[in-house]
Amino acid sequence: MSYSCAITPPSSINACISAAHRPWHSGKNKARPQAKTNEQLWRCVEACGACCKLAKGPSFATPEEIFTDPSDIELYRSLIGPDGWCIHFDKSTRKCSIYPDRPYFCRVEPDVFLSLYGIGKKKFNKEACRCCRDTIKAVYGSQSKELDNFNSSLNR
Ligand code: SF4
Ligand code: SF4
Repeated sequence: MSYSCAITPPSSINACISAAHRPWHSGKNKARPQAKTNEQLWRCVEACGACCKLAKGPSFATPEEIFTDPSDIELYRSLIGPDGWCIHFDKSTRKCSIYPDRPYFCRVEPDVFLSLYGIGKKKFNKEACRCCRDTIKAVYGSQSKELDNFNSSLNR
């Protein structure tokens, strides 16, 4: 799989963490934390790519609010194309064209969530799912097939 993933949390998440950084993204995680009973395990779905729209609007945190390292801000901004989508996002396939080499902040992994957002491993699955839902709603809409696909994938 080579899905895309550059989840940018809604600013509501940044508001509830002390270290304003930011995570997100990707289907190929090394290891997902064990879920508690009835907890949904986060997973990326194919043909989404919502998080690769990097300019999502005022309800999402800005790079300056997310990163403390200026080079991260610079890199993030350098990826934003004229239409707001990442320049490495292939819209025809909805996949990342540099997936193996994508930036660390494009990886939806517990360690990234912890370092960027202050979200611990116990809350990783819940918050990752929430970020995906909010991102998909913002990009494709709350009635979109992409949101249906994402929710369905969690129930399998
Ligand atoms: S928004 Fe979520 S499901 Fe969609 S591509 Fe990004 S990480 Fe995957
Ligand atoms: S590099 Fe771009 S296309 Fe690839 S995962 Fe990151 S935001 Fe998405």
